Amino acid sequence: MGLVDGLTVVVTGAGAGIGRATALCFAAEGAQVVVSDINSKGGAETVALIEKAGGAAMLVVADVSKHDDVAALIDQTVATYGKIDCAVNNAGIEGKIAPFADQPNENFDDIISINLKGTFMCMKAEIAAMLKSGSGSIVNLSSVAGLIGFPGLSPYVASKHGVAGLTKNAALEYGKVGIRVNAVCPGGIDTRMLDSLAEQATGGTQTTTQMMGPLHPVGRIGTPQEVAELIVWLSSPRASFVTGAVIPVDGGFVAQ
Ligand code: NAD
Repeated sequence: MGLVDGLTVVVTGAGAGIGRATALCFAAEGAQVVVSDINSKGGAETVALIEKAGGAAMLVVADVSKHDDVAALIDQTVATYGKIDCAVNNAGIEGKIAPFADQPNENFDDIISINLKGTFMCMKAEIAAMLKSGSGSIVNLSSVAGLIGFPGLSPYVASKHGVAGLTKNAALEYGKVGIRVNAVCPGGIDTRMLDSLAEQATGGTQTTTQMMGPLHPVGRIGTPQEVAELIVWLSSPRASFVTGAVIPVDGGFVAQ
């Protein structure tokens, strides 16, 4: 018996990185997975990986910063599976590293519209569907950058602090009707996004592992699977008393 046997989950940004690992982990624990991404190729690869492992999945291509795409994603999920039990709002971008006063306004707009407004719009649609079925669990991807600042990353830091705020507020508003809402805050995780940040920070003179590993008390960066494990547990009935929590999964990073 899997942790999330028979449940339906929507995972945004599931075409790569943490989202893909989360989709695979949900499927391995018995869920039917709606794999969503703006990148149809990455999304289709994730569906193929799930099916190869014997799981059930379908792809819905959607840009989380577009209201109509988000509405269609949730509508298609309900039309196919009848309800949404779990949702993971994972799609996000890192944007550009720059000192605060030099941050392009466009970089701020892009990051906020995907990471923060995208999460907000997905949560609204997911909660509306969960209210109809009477229960549900949402996990949002914040970051250690949702708990503390990082010089050069002000729009990203603002977006991830905002995601923590949306998480707490929705948890307060929907706790009594059986909808739990939590956020996870990964430290450095081995994905394209971390490679991009390391490249921008060092100009390619150090690998991601060389630059980021020693910054973590455990002496290394994390794997997407290590984040997925927490997300799937939080989504499962085992976490029935956990809501409004904003939880680091960071090799001790924010304990420093
Ligand atoms: P990634 O870049 O490897 O994957 C992100 C996925 O999101 C990609 O498949 C991409 O196509 C998709 N995506 C981007 N914009 C989208 C949009 N508008 N609509 C739909 N899909 C979109 O990144 P990752 O490292 O796997 O990050 C996943 C989440 O975890 C992000 O929210 C990120 O901020 C957060 N996070 C990552 C790290 C890390 O170290 N990697 C640390 C903390 C938090």
